[in-house]
Amino acid sequence: MAIILITGASRGIGFETARALVTEGHTVWMGCRDESRGRQAATTAGGRFVHLDVTADESVRAAATAVGALDVLINNAGVLEPDVPLPDVTTSHLTAIFDTNVFGAVRTTNAFLPALLQSSSAAVLNVTSSIGSLTKSADFTDEFTAYPQDVYRASKAALNMFTVQYAKAYPALRVNCVDPGLTGTDMMNGFGQPPAVAAATIVRIATAGPDGPTGRFLGADGVVPW
Ligand code: NAP
Repeated sequence: MAIILITGASRGIGFETARALVTEGHTVWMGCRDESRGRQAATTAGGRFVHLDVTADESVRAAATAVGALDVLINNAGVLEPDVPLPDVTTSHLTAIFDTNVFGAVRTTNAFLPALLQSSSAAVLNVTSSIGSLTKSADFTDEFTAYPQDVYRASKAALNMFTVQYAKAYPALRVNCVDPGLTGTDMMNGFGQPPAVAAATIVRIATAGPDGPTGRFLGADGVVPW
């Protein structure tokens, strides 16, 4: 059984993933930025609460100290809004989304790297989206091409690149990214598959063990094109 931390575990896919991992018998740290929602979520799921705001250096550093030993980090915390048309995009729009989806994942990964490198079965799993796929986005016949969210797409594409770079830099770790699929959480106003289905995909990849793949973009049906 592994010691696993998932960020953004207060609700949605992160919460359901934590609940599923606890059911499998893992020790699960649930990183949440809101203490009262986070403690409530951890009580409900049977995980351990740790305060973790992925946009704040001090919070992430303190979480790494509180958690200690770690086998698997799941960078799940993410934001979608605000969506603005391309000509209206400003650096503050970019910062608002990249701060969580990209900088947050890098900040958290780096803070937990020393602990992960002590594990014999270490993994980092970045929760991305297939709409961050350059291949799919450049295919104008793809079903999601018409879906806007230019900045969110770019943030997930950047997260995918960091996934590859960490996988190359740390061959002792398995570093992958996963598209959980369109899921009916708050982020999608309830439209999509049940969060437990997304959680099952994440759990399978996160717990694949030392023989699992690394440097891959994976989804429920296998490899997703970059
Ligand atoms: P959600 O229901 O909106 O939940 C987002 C989670 O991220 C919440 O727990 C939120 O915490 C947390 N979070 C946001 N900013 C944070 C920060 N600065 N520090 C720590 N936690 C933070 O979204 P979701 O659908 O579960 O999405 C989870 C992940 O899946 C995201 O990375 C998203 O991009 C990805 N994804 C989702 C879908 C989908 O269809 N839903 C599809 C593809 C990929 P609070 O409760 O404190 O706000």
